Formats: sequence, structure tokens, C-alpha cells
Amino acid sequence: MKKDIRSMDKDALRDFFVSRGDSAFRGNQVYQWLWQKGAHQFEDMTNLSKETRALLDEHFVINHIAVDQMQRSVDGTIKNAVRLHDGLIVESVLIPTKKRTTACVSSQVGCSLDCKFCATARLKKMRNLNADEIYDQVVAIDRESRLYQNMPLSNIVFMGMGEPLMNYNNVLKAIEKITSEEGLGMSPRRITVSTSGIPKMIRKMADEEVKFNLAVSLHSAIDEVRSSIMPFNETFPLSELRAALEYWYSKTKNRITYEYVVWKGVNDQQKDIDALVRFCKFSPAKVNLIEYNPIDGGDYQQASEEAIQNYIKTLEEHHITVTVRRSRGKDIDAACGQLANKS
Ligand code: SAH
Repeated sequence: MKKDIRSMDKDALRDFFVSRGDSAFRGNQVYQWLWQKGAHQFEDMTNLSKETRALLDEHFVINHIAVDQMQRSVDGTIKNAVRLHDGLIVESVLIPTKKRTTACVSSQVGCSLDCKFCATARLKKMRNLNADEIYDQVVAIDRESRLYQNMPLSNIVFMGMGEPLMNYNNVLKAIEKITSEEGLGMSPRRITVSTSGIPKMIRKMADEEVKFNLAVSLHSAIDEVRSSIMPFNETFPLSELRAALEYWYSKTKNRITYEYVVWKGVNDQQKDIDALVRFCKFSPAKVNLIEYNPIDGGDYQQASEEAIQNYIKTLEEHHITVTVRRSRGKDIDAACGQLANKS
């Protein structure tokens, strides 16, 4: 089988040419075609000789993604169904606002976690995405942003399908490409990785002093409640998550964002709010209250407006930043927790 050329770093490409009596510079040229100019085939690499292109064709493939279907919501949100080289599908979303456009990208096909309220959890995990498959989603959304919003992509959130920290190496490699001058040259400060909270990986990120933002899908700061909606919490209880986050903060001094949905009868009481405050007050924090997007056959219901207001009031009293994320793209199943390859 031919090798996916984009699994090779620049040095490996340079070595490939040197070992064949060509110059290392040829490797730089190919690298630029692959990552900066987004070439889909070797034929497109017009400053290479015919022989060089044939040589590449003989040894390698470019496993480029294809946007199979693009849906546009009445609110301007765009959802791409993205076909991978082996026929599997993931989804990514472009979320425009007046001042910026955000790409929401997937890191896995399906998901191995079992959050009861999330549509993606119903697809079993098929495989991890490669770094180039993650990168390609961003490039596709950047193009759509320029085309439909007249501005380049400004932010990226890893909040699509999958658990990014279960595919850590590829997510990190993709972010390196996105932020490098040879890729898109975006600032890591504009990138947010969202995790359901895997303590060991949060510590690893802290040790590696990554520069992007961290968001944690908390949804409850009471073990019993969290385990009932996110069963893997039994394996990684809140005490371990909290210790890992303290470690993250001690290393990065970066504010932590918590994603939080309030459901009727699940986490809408004062004791839930108080537990949240106790959990997150050790560092600068932002709580993002996400509107619940009902999923087919789900048992959950968005809490009352009063319960949400109670959350906002108490958090503000404790000087914790709170924002409410109104969902976008609901009519095309592009909102949080709705990515499930329906079409
Ligand atoms: N696995 C990662 C990335 C997914 S991010 C994580 O868990 O953080 C998607 C966000 O949407 C998460 O905060 C998730 O908990 C939330 N979510 C999932 N299903 C939802 C739903 N039906 N309505 C609203 N938010 C949902």
C-alpha cells in the first residue's frame, strides 16, 4: 500500500529526496504544496518535473478529504459532511457572528464516551482522525468563511465529533500545522480544545505547556449526578479532574472554560449551583451555559429560565464569568451535541 505522504514531516520528505540523489530543497517544495497550497494531487505541483511527480505518485497518496455535502442554516451556520479516504464521514461546522467566524471540527469518527445527552455518543467510535484530516476540515471552513462571510476564519473549537484528548497526538500535530507559518499561521490563542475531562491528558498538556485554550464539559460538579449523565465519570471522578485542572492552571495560568447544560430535574437546584462554584473558584474561570439541543429519543429537557437565571446570579456573585451560548444551526442539526451523520 502506498503511504499517506502527509503523515511525513518535513525532515522525512527532505530525506526521501536526498536518498534518491535529489536535493533536500525538493522536500521543502513538496511540503509547501501539501500544507500551504493544499494540493490534492501530485499533478498540481507545477514547479516539480514530470519525473519527480511520477516518483511521488509511485510511492505516496494524498488522502485528501472531500466535502460531500454542505448545508446552510437560516442563521448562516454551515455544516459540512466530510468524506474521508476510506469512505467514513465526519461533520464540521462554520459558525459566523458579526465580528468573527468559528470552525467547529471533529477529531474522531464517532466517539467512545457515552454521554447520555449527546447524539455523537450513539455512533460507536470507528477510528481516530489523522492530523491531515483534521487540518483539511479547517482549510475547507476557512475557504467557506472567505467565500460566504468575506473574512478569513478567526477561531477554531475542537467541539465536533469525538473526544480530542483520546486522539491527542493527531490533534496536537494538526494544531501545529494550523499555527505554523507554513500552514495557516493562526494564533493558538484562537484555538480551544474541549474535553469531557481526562485527567491524565490534561496533566500531559500542562507539562507540554500548550498555548491553546482549554474547555471542560462539566455539566455537574456532583459525582453522583455527573456519573448519571456521563458514565465515564465513574472512572475519572471529579476529585481527579479537579486536581488535574489545578495542575493545568499552576503551569499555564490560563483561564479555564466550563461547558455546562442545565437540565430540568437533573442539575437545576441551588445545591448544583453551589457545587459548581466550589469546583471552579480555584482559578479564573468562565462558565458557558449551553442551551440544550434535544436529540432524537432523548429523555432530557432544558431547565426553566428561572433555574438558568439562578445560575447566572450566583456565578456572578462569586465573580465567575458566565456566558449563555444560544445554539446556532439547529435547523440543520449542526448545534452542540447534534452531530450524528444523519444525512
Ligand atoms: N468530547 C468533547 C468535545 C465535544 S464538545 C467534549 O465532551 O468536550 C461538544 C459540547 O456540546 C460538549 O460540551 C458537550 O457536552 C455538549 N453537548 C453534547 N450534547 C449536547 C446537547 N444535546 N445539547 C447541548 N450541548 C451538548
